[in-house]
Amino acid sequence: MKVASIQKLSLIEYPGKLSAVIFIPGCNLRCQFCYVPDLVLPERVEKVKPIPEKKVFSFLKERKGFLEAVAISGGEPTIHSELPEFIKKIKRLGYLVELETNGTNFKMLKKLVEEKLIDYVATDIKHDFDFELWNEITGGVLTPQLFENIKKSINFLLEGKIDYELRTTLMKEFHKKEDIVEICKKIRKAKVYYLQNYEKTESGTVSGKEFTPFSEKEILEIIEEGKKYTNIKARPYLFK
Ligand code: SF4
Repeated sequence: MKVASIQKLSLIEYPGKLSAVIFIPGCNLRCQFCYVPDLVLPERVEKVKPIPEKKVFSFLKERKGFLEAVAISGGEPTIHSELPEFIKKIKRLGYLVELETNGTNFKMLKKLVEEKLIDYVATDIKHDFDFELWNEITGGVLTPQLFENIKKSINFLLEGKIDYELRTTLMKEFHKKEDIVEICKKIRKAKVYYLQNYEKTESGTVSGKEFTPFSEKEILEIIEEGKKYTNIKARPYLFK
């Protein structure tokens, strides 16, 4: 498995656990706001100098006892057919595993859950469930098949077979309060639905554009309305 980088310690990635985050390069979407262009745009992914798997596992072995969980992020980890084998090796070390996925590979997600290879899933709900809206925000590369897979993945998580979180990154250019309330109505059974805010980062975005975050007051207003329908919350540490 090609590993682009490792964040050696995260206090927030896996809820309530000390975790390491492994970033896998390559993605099948082009979310306009995505702040990891180096892991998404092919010409930049090509330049990634991978960390040898041996080094990854010797780090994980060494930290066992201190770290409790490993979050696998990207990019989109599920575009790699070798992901299940890679996770198996992490599980053998006794770690809890979180998968951060855009939901486009429903088949692999289901398999990973059914084979108990993952313990927690984090998935984005980019917009209200309309193909055109999702296609715009994900950079015009979405296909009807990928969109179906995303919806299947979200519905599968809503069945509650695994612990999970759903989340939306808010930007004024794409979202209105009503859109988020509509999403809330469609995910009534959600274990937790987090709102996070667009943040400008040094790495820029996949589209090269900048976006406008919501104010704290606006986010709290959305939550006030949305919680009539589902368990919507501000992402931990959103309001620093
Ligand atoms: S935010 Fe979008 S483009 Fe970026 S890694 Fe996730 S799915 Fe890929």
